[in-house]
Amino acid sequence: MIYLDHNATTAPAPAVLDAMLQVLGSVWANASSQHAPGQQARRTLADARARAAQVLGCKPAELIFTSGATEANHMAVRGLLAAAAAPRRRRVVFSQVEHAGQLRLARALAAQGVPVDMVGVHPDGQLDLQQAAALIGPETALVALMAANNETGVLMPVAEVAALAHAAGAALHLDATQFIGKLPFHFGACGAAAVSLSAHKFHGPKGVGALLLRQGQPFVAQTLGSQERGRRGGTENLPGIVGMATALELLGDLSAQATRLRALRDALERGLAAALPRVHVWGQAAERLPGTSYLRFGRLEADVVLQRLERLGVAASSGAACSSGGTEPSHVLRAMGVAPAEALAAVRLSLGAGSTAQDVAYLLQSLPPLLEPLLREEEALAAA
Ligand code: PMP
Repeated sequence: MIYLDHNATTAPAPAVLDAMLQVLGSVWANASSQHAPGQQARRTLADARARAAQVLGCKPAELIFTSGATEANHMAVRGLLAAAAAPRRRRVVFSQVEHAGQLRLARALAAQGVPVDMVGVHPDGQLDLQQAAALIGPETALVALMAANNETGVLMPVAEVAALAHAAGAALHLDATQFIGKLPFHFGACGAAAVSLSAHKFHGPKGVGALLLRQGQPFVAQTLGSQERGRRGGTENLPGIVGMATALELLGDLSAQATRLRALRDALERGLAAALPRVHVWGQAAERLPGTSYLRFGRLEADVVLQRLERLGVAASSGAACSSGGTEPSHVLRAMGVAPAEALAAVRLSLGAGSTAQDVAYLLQSLPPLLEPLLREEEALAAA
């Protein structure tokens, strides 16, 4: 099988599985227990925290382990909002292309009476910075923005938005779930008060992630308990945490990997556009994650294309895994002004560590012959 759905999830690395199994079997005590096995668990936890913090460029105390990015996102938004000092500072700014979980949170907050502002994007998927500048003001408590979009791969202007938030006295939360593991990241240098990540996007296990929370940042805990310095209660998922720390250490030189994936992705896009009529790639004019391609073949429905890919042994998706299989056009494409019939044709190919030039060559050789007759038929129907 050729796996081209790395933005949905990635396979755990063998070293991650080894490290997790070891902890699962032998370091199973509660890290809060006082006895010797508990102390061993506590040491294992502290060691994993230090290793993960080293890779992420944060202090160990700034790292709060969670069950993944969704939890980290929600605790960041609710926790930073609840801690905003001034009573008149209650507004939350999101982008319209945030992950589905964040958009649901935005709606939930609005239903609770929190004033919520949504920043749009340009047709190429880039954030409308002018609108962001107009919306971020003295009443803004928090700006919640993704670092990179999971569907288009488009990178958001983090430094510019951080400057806007900073000038307005608002906190910035970054959902870096798609960014971390694909491009070099350093918490100390990113300009955000809080950053979310999820281990399964970079060959770690599912169900574990983190919120990086800047030291001294006012924050109100949302899950109460003694763990994680009172900021996130609940017995720590030690095997998962060790798996995540191991996966982070395995990332290595991400700029070399990014260069390699960018070349593969660009070759794939160029090859498909040369072999077939009416191939359209979204976000191509913007800076994107290196391995992400979001495209359509004329107006062929995504399911039709995905079936052909399946036949070829290629696993891909029609967009976000959490909303694929649905019949609703992607909210990201709608925010970009894409017509519903075109949005329903969206296919996402996301390359990753295991992707090779042979994979791309195979796809370029085998997919066009399957799609060409369908595209010709579509053209004939449109002309009739
Ligand atoms: N944010 C973004 C941008 C994502 O791509 C995802 C995963 N699809 C999430 C948040 C949620 O991550 P998790 O499912 O691990 O909680």
